[in-house]
Amino acid sequence: MHKQPCIRLPLQTGGGALGALFWTALTTVASFGAASFGLFMLSSMNREGESTGGLLVMSLIPALCSLGFGAATLAIRREFVRQRATDVEVDDRELRFVGGALGGTSIPWGEIESCTITTDSTRYVRTKTSRRTTTEYMDQLWLARRRSSPRLLAESLDAGEKASLGELRQAILGACQARGGRASEDEATQQPTSVLQCAACGSAVAAVEAAETACGSCGATVEFDPDTAERIRSAADLGRVTERLEEAIQRLLDQPPATSANRPLDLLGFLILAVPAAALGVSVLPGVGATGGLALLAVGVPFATGIAFLARLFVAERQALRALTAGMGARNPARAGEPPRCRQCGGTLLIRDRHVVAICLFCRAENLLGLDLRSALAAAQSHDYELGAILAKRQSQRRRAVAGLVACAVVTALALLAVIA
Ligand SMILES: [Zn+2]
Ligand SMILES: [Zn+2]
Repeated sequence: MHKQPCIRLPLQTGGGALGALFWTALTTVASFGAASFGLFMLSSMNREGESTGGLLVMSLIPALCSLGFGAATLAIRREFVRQRATDVEVDDRELRFVGGALGGTSIPWGEIESCTITTDSTRYVRTKTSRRTTTEYMDQLWLARRRSSPRLLAESLDAGEKASLGELRQAILGACQARGGRASEDEATQQPTSVLQCAACGSAVAAVEAAETACGSCGATVEFDPDTAERIRSAADLGRVTERLEEAIQRLLDQPPATSANRPLDLLGFLILAVPAAALGVSVLPGVGATGGLALLAVGVPFATGIAFLARLFVAERQALRALTAGMGARNPARAGEPPRCRQCGGTLLIRDRHVVAICLFCRAENLLGLDLRSALAAAQSHDYELGAILAKRQSQRRRAVAGLVACAVVTALALLAVIA
């Protein structure tokens, strides 16, 4: 059957970190504006032959601005560090974290007691529109461990990311239960009707594009009746439509880990602070003056904006990956040897060689194979997810980010040429 030894799930997409950097950039622009205004005043008064006392007072302005800027930046950077992109890698033994604040740590399944979500009401974002004000509080995903203190896994202010923290919690709980062997009691009493079964042993079997298949549990040959054969044919027809999407899905699933999304995010964080600071430094140098600082800004600002679009591109890919992994995965089999089931109705899936998308014979939902951690017990909550919608959203975000990236590259090149000339 379709088996992956290790599954990688996006724990934090990096969207929160990008948001924190956006606020850092705004603070920087405001402080930089105030500081350069102060410097401008200072130099014009200096020209008029002002007293040294006044000069001292005037030089306090940039100093105070820098101090305020530093304090605000420190506060926001803490948010940035906490919300950098993080992946969690899952295998039979443990949960491993890649990138972000938790990067490099691992927690064995045996240590995990439970997984909860709490809301921190002291941290929130308030959005005001003409009609109403909405407040989004910070949700935190905690892992309770035996013999040690609980661990903060992820946190987010974004409504979409918060929804998938809930899915992730389900996934971790499901995987814990499956490993503790307590998962299948309810499933047995549920007796699903839309499942193909082996006549010899009663185990569920997968649908394939053939007249018969071998039971994964006892090896007996299971022949498909005419009604099932018809369902297989129509699911296969539907599956052929998704074939062109499979390449895009495969690329999303194979995308590099969180550490590569953190690279442009970190570079952006550095540039937001370094470009204005360098410009300010250059403009007070004797013999260079304000023109030097402005030239540095003219090149540095579009370059940093380009890096922001690059980071946005990575984050959009990770958000699409998260939607796929949180919502599209086929349910794990109830017993070893059985095939995965439909995420929506628990029915039999049509499994095709070398395909990641499996169509349900009964409700015709698209399922991704080899992703889901939820035990068969956990209720399918994934009705809102639709493959086409996830990929279309990803496509439009991608297009916008690439357009921004290209525009910034052109502006940076032009500015560089102008400065050299
Ligand atoms: Zn059998
Ligand atoms: Zn189904």
